[in-house]
Amino acid sequence: MIKVKNISKSYKDAIVLNNVSLEINKGDFTAVMGPSGSGKSTLLYSISSMDNPDEGEVIFEGIDVYKLSESELSKFRLNKMGFVFQNSQMLKNLSIFDNIILPGMVAKRESIEVVRARATELMSKMGIEDIKDRDIREVSGGQLQRAAICRAMINSPEILFMDEPTGALNSEAASQVMEILKKLNQEGISIMLVTHDAKMASMAKKVIYIKDGKLAGEIKLSNEKEALAEIDLWLKTI
Ligand code: ADP
Ligand code: MG
Repeated sequence: MIKVKNISKSYKDAIVLNNVSLEINKGDFTAVMGPSGSGKSTLLYSISSMDNPDEGEVIFEGIDVYKLSESELSKFRLNKMGFVFQNSQMLKNLSIFDNIILPGMVAKRESIEVVRARATELMSKMGIEDIKDRDIREVSGGQLQRAAICRAMINSPEILFMDEPTGALNSEAASQVMEILKKLNQEGISIMLVTHDAKMASMAKKVIYIKDGKLAGEIKLSNEKEALAEIDLWLKTI
């Protein structure tokens, strides 16, 4: 689905991404680990066409995304990709429900009824249908992140990009979010998740390790029960 070819990025003299190549296939669930400042977020933003690399290509379903015009790219992003960040980045003056349907209204691909129906279905799937009319200041961090996932899913994207989506949550709320992600992935959506938490990463099918802007390691996880032990062992070898 996505081919990342030799991407590099620098800020002044600092090389933040150094010739990274990787592929994401349909249905993949990839976790990105690595020390703080190693380039994980920059990699995620480069792949998801939010921040262009200095060199290299990102080919999404055959389309060289950085060759698209700005308006083509924003349309492409809106229809194909969903984003969730550490802080939900919801708008304060809209209800939870209106925040969720907003990208659907902007995309103008479907009727408002279809978008509203999908929002209701997503909220019920995430167990947050009861907070639909609330202001974002009236809900918990875990509920807010689940709402952010609903918003990211509203245009039925092919891939969800997430940068430490559970980083600000307590472990129970984080586990709930991870269970939801696992379910969404089983239903077919691809996921790329940055996390520093090996337990979160153990829910993925593949983990990559970024160190000093380079791809320093990769492990495929097959047995869910042993995944965490496998990751812990693997991290010691990097
Ligand atoms: P990670 O997500 O792994 O913590 P980042 O990708 O956020 O790392 O950052 C990698 C490096 O790039 C860090 O040293 C960071 O300070 C630097 N960096 C990131 N964004 C910018 C920017 N906009 N301007 C200058 N330096 C940046
Ligand atoms: Mg980061």
